[in-house]
Amino acid sequence: MDTRPCPLCSRPRTPADAAGLAWSSQHEADGSITFICPTCTRAQLWRIEAMLAVASPTAPLAPLPLRPAA
Ligand SMILES: [Zn+2]
Repeated sequence: MDTRPCPLCSRPRTPADAAGLAWSSQHEADGSITFICPTCTRAQLWRIEAMLAVASPTAPLAPLPLRPAA
């Protein structure tokens, strides 16, 4: 079972987390799946909805710039 930590905040992913649905999954170009913890999922939801990559398992993204004010 994949219990790698969240790539965004390094929160450990326990077997209980892996059995639940709280963590979101991101399918990588190489076919692997990166799991994002619930906290980061909520924080990155706009990226997910925009079909943008949220995180990379090998190269964590730099801190995101704030969205420009409307
Ligand atoms: Zn996280």
